[in-house]
Order: sequence, then C-alpha cells, then structure tokens
Amino acid sequence: MIEKISHIGIAVKDMEDALSVFRDGIGLEVTSTDEVKTQKVRVAFLPVGETRFELLEPTEDDSPIAKYLEKRGEGIHHIALKVTNIEEALAAMKEKGVKLINEEPVPGAHGTRVAFLHPKGTRGVMLELVEENE
Ligand code: ZN
Repeated sequence: MIEKISHIGIAVKDMEDALSVFRDGIGLEVTSTDEVKTQKVRVAFLPVGETRFELLEPTEDDSPIAKYLEKRGEGIHHIALKVTNIEEALAAMKEKGVKLINEEPVPGAHGTRVAFLHPKGTRGVMLELVEENE
C-alpha cells in the first residue's frame, strides 16, 4: 500500500533564496513548481534520484508553513509517503489508532490528493500520504 518516499518537504522563508542554495549551490534541478491554494504555499520540486525535495514557501501569513517557520524556523517539515489508494490507507491507519490531521484527502500540488498524519502520533515526524495521479 505504501510504495516509496514521494518527497521530503522543506520549509523555507524565501524560495529564490533557498533555490540559490539547493539549485545553484548543490546543483539540483527544479523540474516543477506549483501554488497550492488550500495550503497557502508555493512549492518547487527538485528530484534526487527516486525521490524529490519539495521546497515550501508560505504565500500568506496564516499559512501552516508560515506558522511552522515562526515556531521552528526553516528545515525539514514533512516526509511524504506515496500510497496506492489514499482512502484505503487513511481508513486502515485510522482503524489502527494512528492520529490524523486530515481525515479526508485534500488537494496537493499537481493534482495529487494528500493527507497529513499528526506528528504527535509519529514521534515528532510529520508524515504526508500522497496519491499521485499517473
Ligand atoms: Zn509534501
């Protein structure tokens, strides 16, 4: 049901400034960008072999990423697991008592459907489930 690590989400204050390191300094390529209105973030994907970094920049002061940056500063925000069927994955995890932030899938970048698990239940690591529409 869980296929692989889809991506690693990194919260950044300023996208261009972050790209000057991840793209220009480290040498990764930006293959896509998007704005996720429901999460109030702008994202950039930089493939690293089988997985990707997802840089997340808030577009509004009340974005969840803006709040995260205020509290914790820049850094790894979440690890996303690619699942075959997000409804089935959520139902199975809920039944086993996993704490969920999103009980139902919400729209993610590039037409994906995503749901976040509560980091309090997963030892401080925020996990995101992603169903990609390939
Ligand atoms: Zn993500």
